[in-house]
Amino acid sequence: MIRICTQCGTKNRIPARYLSSQGRCGQCKSALPPQAEPMDVNQAQFEEILKESPVPVLVDFWAAWCGPCRMAAPEVAKLAQSMAGKVLVLKVNTEEEQQLSARYNIRSIPNFAIFAHDQMQWQQAGLLNHRELEQVLARWL
Ligand SMILES: [Zn+2]
Repeated sequence: MIRICTQCGTKNRIPARYLSSQGRCGQCKSALPPQAEPMDVNQAQFEEILKESPVPVLVDFWAAWCGPCRMAAPEVAKLAQSMAGKVLVLKVNTEEEQQLSARYNIRSIPNFAIFAHDQMQWQQAGLLNHRELEQVLARWL
């Protein structure tokens, strides 16, 4: 995944296992803080992050046509911010990644899932706010 340095604008390639860690810009050596925003991922990125992440991963399964998904988006963004370094937050577009949706049996969206150690730990359909998501995630921290 790519993280852009806020100091010099360099695009740094971050291995999946370090996304939740503080790093350093390869160019100017400024600190690169842990991932604090949801990441839109395709199937290959999803699988790599689930396999390599040392922290729990929350996945937001969504689609552009889904009104409640749009309401969930700012909550998911707040969660990624408040739990940066402890959790990674991924977004999977269910229309673009139909194989993933089928694999996890996503029938209604928004649909949230938590993965740890490359295994699904929890899954729930329906809108949740960032506080509710934080409470659920606390079980895997
Ligand atoms: Zn830099």
